[in-house]
Amino acid sequence: MSRKIESEYDVIVAGGGAGGVGAALGAARAGAKVCLVEKYGFLGGAATTSQVLAYCGFFQQGREPVKAVGGAGDLVLDAMRAIGMDGAAHNSETTGNWIILLNPEGLKLALDRVLADHGVDVLLHSRVAAATRTASRIESVTVAGMEGRRRIAAEGYVDATGDANLSLVAGVTMREGDDQGRLQAVSAPIRIGGLDPNVPFDRDAIRAAIQRYNVDGAFPITRDDGGIYTRIPGTGDMWWMIIDLPLSDLGSGAFTWAEQRARAMAHDYVEMLRQHVPGFERCYLAQTGPQIGIRESRHPATRYEVTGHDLTSGRQRSDSVARAAWPAELHGEAGKPVYHSVGGPGYASVPLDSLRVRGLDNLWLAGRVVGADPFAYGSLRVMGTAFATGEASGIAAALGAEDGETVGAEVRRLGGLT
Ligand SMILES: Cc1cc2nc3c(=O)[nH]c(=O)nc-3n(C[C@H](O)[C@H](O)[C@H](O)COP(=O)(O)OP(=O)(O)OC[C@H]3O[C@@H](n4cnc5c(N)ncnc54)[C@H](O)[C@@H]3O)c2cc1C
Repeated sequence: MSRKIESEYDVIVAGGGAGGVGAALGAARAGAKVCLVEKYGFLGGAATTSQVLAYCGFFQQGREPVKAVGGAGDLVLDAMRAIGMDGAAHNSETTGNWIILLNPEGLKLALDRVLADHGVDVLLHSRVAAATRTASRIESVTVAGMEGRRRIAAEGYVDATGDANLSLVAGVTMREGDDQGRLQAVSAPIRIGGLDPNVPFDRDAIRAAIQRYNVDGAFPITRDDGGIYTRIPGTGDMWWMIIDLPLSDLGSGAFTWAEQRARAMAHDYVEMLRQHVPGFERCYLAQTGPQIGIRESRHPATRYEVTGHDLTSGRQRSDSVARAAWPAELHGEAGKPVYHSVGGPGYASVPLDSLRVRGLDNLWLAGRVVGADPFAYGSLRVMGTAFATGEASGIAAALGAEDGETVGAEVRRLGGLT
């Protein structure tokens, strides 16, 4: 391993999902030289790694879509529209909430372009594997890439890895799962091709097929209401959320079991549709993954945790740097999500202290690793909100700012808060 520190940046962002893209854009627009490190060969996080094909959290609940996220999130939506993606608010048939539908291949290109337009250095096929630190600061990170391992350094760092991998290697205290160590279910949304374009999806027929399958099928379906589904924009394919599995722990063994079982379930369920649902006679499993969707893993200790009460009361704070507007979506029991509305004006403040780890002064958090209690986490983790927490963290890292008022003012200047 090289001991030399190879390049100097103002901000290094670990992870290229919604949180990391938001952070890189926020930091770059605040004037920083930014490097974003992503372990896969493309950006997008769960949207492109796990077929999570809808942005939630951009809008408040209600009859009309009222925006809760702007700034970096808006830049991404503009980049999507520039290549012909829709980028518009749709009312989810199954939950009644406002979402933005995604085409993952389009999204990969849009994200490449928006980061290039803002001068961000992107390193793909590169994993943040280690960190050096003093008592209060990260000094450098080791990146394991195609050329081996090398160290890069910056003034500020953002952990946007979803699984808190930078915080983990930097020695930050953390909790796994909820306050009793329970992890939310993992899920594998699947894409199904070969459908008859003239036959609308028939929920009653899908429900009946599931009921029949559940009599003696190998993997009884917990979402016996038919699950969540939609047609993927610009295609005739179906996106289907039907596979959920409990996760016992965060070890590779548990993930191997979940990946392999989800794969077997996906093949079985598509066969069930082929045999029993009109319009699906010639359907096939078009895609899973590349990896199973992880709802929850590690939560680094932060200086403040947004609480369920903050959310349900719509708490407003002067040190707010982002807004949480998605109803808390709790997945305690696999396949049985429960929703709780956000109170007050329809969104709650996310204060800067929930983006700052305890014990390190130059590490900020973005996306699903931000500080939230198990209830509020069900809201803050969604991707629209992740763009917003990312943008705020990127700005804080660029400015080295420790107070929410300063960061909030910059977020407002950049259009992230109105
Ligand atoms: C099944 C499922 C359904 C969901 N449904 C929705 C939905 O409909 N809408 C919605 O908005 N949200 C949904 N969510 C939640 C949402 O997808 C995540 O909470 C969100 O993606 C979090 O964004 P993030 O950027 O923090 O993390 P991620 O999207 O997980 O991105 C993290 C990125 O970091 C990279 N990475 C990890 N470790 C390293 C490392 N050491 N070095 C470099 N890179 C690294 C990963 O490859 C990844 O690209 C769903 C989640 C799941 C699992």
